[in-house]
Amino acid sequence: METRRIDTDILIIGGGTAGCYGAMCLAQDENLRILVVEKANIKRSGCLAAGVNAINSYIPSYRTYDEYVDYTRNDACKIVREDLLYTVAQGFNDAAHHLEKLGLVIQKDAEGNYAMRGRWNVKINGENIKPIMAKAVAELENVTVLNHVNIADLVYRDNRVLGAYGFGVSEDVIYKIRAKAVLMATGGAAGLYRPNNPGFSRHKMWYSPFNTGAGFAMGIKAGAEMTTFEMRFIALRCKDTIAPTGTIALGVGGKEINAMGKVYEGKYGLKTCDRVYGTLRETLEGRGPCYINTKGIGKAAADDLKKAYLNMAPSQTLKWIEAGKDASEADVEIEGTEPYIVGGHTASGFWVDTGRATTVKGLFAAGDVAGGSPKKYVTGAMAEAKIASESMVEYLAALSADEGEDEAAERQFDTLDEELRGFLAEKLPLYGIDDIEDAMQKIMDTYAGGIGSNYQYSEKGLEAAKYKIENLEKLMPALVAKDMHELLQIYEIRERITVCKTLLVHMGARQETRWHSFGENQDHPQADDRHWLKYVNTKLQDGEIRVIFRDLVKRDEYYEHTD
Ligand SMILES: Cc1cc2nc3c(=O)[nH]c(=O)nc-3n(C[C@H](O)[C@H](O)[C@H](O)COP(=O)(O)OP(=O)(O)OC[C@H]3O[C@@H](n4cnc5c(N)ncnc54)[C@H](O)[C@@H]3O)c2cc1C
Repeated sequence: METRRIDTDILIIGGGTAGCYGAMCLAQDENLRILVVEKANIKRSGCLAAGVNAINSYIPSYRTYDEYVDYTRNDACKIVREDLLYTVAQGFNDAAHHLEKLGLVIQKDAEGNYAMRGRWNVKINGENIKPIMAKAVAELENVTVLNHVNIADLVYRDNRVLGAYGFGVSEDVIYKIRAKAVLMATGGAAGLYRPNNPGFSRHKMWYSPFNTGAGFAMGIKAGAEMTTFEMRFIALRCKDTIAPTGTIALGVGGKEINAMGKVYEGKYGLKTCDRVYGTLRETLEGRGPCYINTKGIGKAAADDLKKAYLNMAPSQTLKWIEAGKDASEADVEIEGTEPYIVGGHTASGFWVDTGRATTVKGLFAAGDVAGGSPKKYVTGAMAEAKIASESMVEYLAALSADEGEDEAAERQFDTLDEELRGFLAEKLPLYGIDDIEDAMQKIMDTYAGGIGSNYQYSEKGLEAAKYKIENLEKLMPALVAKDMHELLQIYEIRERITVCKTLLVHMGARQETRWHSFGENQDHPQADDRHWLKYVNTKLQDGEIRVIFRDLVKRDEYYEHTD
């Protein structure tokens, strides 16, 4: 095993949307050395790997930032950071324009304005959005990209980040990286719960299966404060293909209908979570399966849908072709996915200040890993990366080296080396990696509100989940990797278990039910503002996950970490 050491000013962990754009923003300061480390290849990694067909967050000239904040706040039943929403909204349009300059095709209406799809969405031909961003990063002279390297842990001292530890996914190399500041851009967490599809197709899920919550886990272990994990995201998707339904709803005005053909959309509310909940209720009450009504939309509209899905979820197009029936001939069956933790859609993630600094000094967060501002999506991840990069430059200007930090980093590197080599040591494997993954997903599904338990949970169930997940964690050292790819899989399970433990604490602490399905606490099914109007945050202290309730932050505040 070779060890490579790297010294850089700024380390960006994750070369997805936020990571790539963060590199572009930071590279404008030509004195900075920037390193992007990506576990896949930035050309096709993360949420944008397969492409997208819309920019979901754009403020057209006839709308205001306040309207966007109000809309998002309502959808989340007020549990948002208005300061974060307002500042991210200010950056949406610049991000979209930048993508267009880089070569992204944004569709236009007859007047030459961006073609809108719904209130905030812009239509794009986005199959190649990620290669476009990757090419722009590759052209930056002061940015180095390390592809196929997984970051496993942060190194830190006295609540200040000093760098990170990682390993090659396809080469036998350990990386010991020292950095003055770190941008966490690893996306959200998929694969915590048993997914819709079993066996060979189990990784055919809505969220990128390779975003396994590494950033959350690293932050949790380093003592960073996390927020609102209990606002899980469950996507309402086309059955089996798990392709987005928004394309049909916004593109051809399809409505949610039950098996009797009755429209139930609106009956349970119109918030994002209500759509999942409504579909579930109709099914539980014997009126399933449920569909999005497309029958009769006409051949031209059905062909447009086929093209739109080729931009991001080709399996849906293939399903229509394979069935020999397109959307104009048959309604599209829908279902809810398993829950994810995704700060780009809901408010879960790192607790950051308005400048996107986490509570660990020198550690910043952007995109799906950053909490507090739901519905920010592609342009939001970019806008947040820009804000974080500006804060990082300020942080570096004020930074002075501490004595003893080299020694502290070396000590941690040694411990992490030992742990990693333990998985590669020759020993009799008692359990397979898949066994642990299955067990974790089954526990979460059964006791912590997965698909199998209709997204509902109780305090006793959460306690059982905690006990079982902790026992599962104890089995981790018995796992054996025969190559670096298996080593990656072990670390991916390890980080998901860390995320599960924090998630369970959040779910238990939110003693109210308002985001139906996203959080369905059977012991507290009522709405109750006294328990609701606060952020549920957590922090790992002395081995215990401590809950911190915080007051809501308003849009005109500049929030700074004080305690
Ligand atoms: C299927 C799908 C469809 C979507 N459609 C749209 C849409 O149409 N319009 C829209 O605006 N938004 C859409 N979104 C949302 C949007 O794509 C995301 O919010 C945004 O891309 C998130 O950016 P990010 O940088 O936080 O995460 P990502 O872009 O996913 O980047 C995270 C990166 O971190 C890497 N990584 C993870 N762990 C490690 C580690 N330990 N070490 C190194 N690297 C690591 C990953 O490989 C990945 O490249 C969609 C999301 C999904 C999942």
